[in-house]
Amino acid sequence: MLTRIGTLLLALLLLPGSPVHAEWSKADRAIMGTAIHLEFWSEKQSQAQAQNLIDDVVAEFQRIDALMSTYKEDSELSKVNRLAATEPVVVSEELFGLLEQALRYSVLSDGAFDITYASVGYMYDYRERVKPSDEEIAAKLGAINYRHVVLDPGQHSVRFARQGVRVDLGGIAKGYAVDRAIGLLQAQGIAHALVSAGGDTRIIGDKRGRPWVTAIRHPRQREDFAALLPLSDTAISTSGDYERYFIEGDVRYHHIISPKTGKSAQASRSATVLGPDATTTDALSTTVFILGPKDGLALVNRLEGIDAVVIDSDGRMHYSDGLLRQQSEPPG
Ligand code: ADP
Ligand code: MG
Repeated sequence: MLTRIGTLLLALLLLPGSPVHAEWSKADRAIMGTAIHLEFWSEKQSQAQAQNLIDDVVAEFQRIDALMSTYKEDSELSKVNRLAATEPVVVSEELFGLLEQALRYSVLSDGAFDITYASVGYMYDYRERVKPSDEEIAAKLGAINYRHVVLDPGQHSVRFARQGVRVDLGGIAKGYAVDRAIGLLQAQGIAHALVSAGGDTRIIGDKRGRPWVTAIRHPRQREDFAALLPLSDTAISTSGDYERYFIEGDVRYHHIISPKTGKSAQASRSATVLGPDATTTDALSTTVFILGPKDGLALVNRLEGIDAVVIDSDGRMHYSDGLLRQQSEPPG
């Protein structure tokens, strides 16, 4: 038998549009050529509101893809690639901002992270096992240099200082999209969430009393993992040579290109970076992968709030100073 108060409570709970609905909402989509996953704890949202929020996040990924994909001819970035060697191209504040950020990582990494890698990178097609010849690389290598990208903050325009320059934001745009998605969730009061796009993940809060557990994949055994990391309130990105690649002879041709050689970087099998936001960890995971364990971890150890795990070309694991400190500290 329900007491009167009990009946009243039950009635309140059953009111149409009742906001009381605490559960995990989850969604998976394929956007930006990758797997998008989101899950969040909705406490104040009705089921319909949670679904709307999922729709908004998915739409945000699609919007950024439409703006920044180099696979889409009508994207803003494709327009830049078509015209910027001839004339300054005025772009949206958003694209301008991300280009500025990308160039900052180029300066920080002394050119290891360089969106003009695409001046040579466009000649690779990993699915079709196509790669440029040494002569083709030599002919275009001079176009790889982030200094060829000239930004005018007054005009919000982009110009390429020479012919043959192409840019691609594949090393940073997914992290940026993840951050935007997290921003949308936070704006609706969500306090526990995980959003990932391929190898780029951002986590807010914990999994309600437990950490989220994120795996660093084993670079050579698909089903295996190299490490499990319990995480909350952080971003984490992994760049690996096992995502898009083909093997010919004893060379693995994959999608992370050394700007010095125009060829796939060979110093690492994977690089995982932890940091405050996914734009940062995305750009830095690509960077650390290219730099390899020694120079990559030296860079990470200089940066406040950034940690990294690198699996080198022999499969050995290397950790940044911050992670080594955490490991040697007694728990609690
Ligand atoms: P993914 O999650 O796609 O594996 P990563 O963060 O590992 O992405 O970065 C790889 C992508 O970065 C490539 O697909 C390419 O678009 C871009 N890229 C490759 N080489 C460089 C480079 N030297 N500097 C900046 N971006 C790069
Ligand atoms: Mg990256």
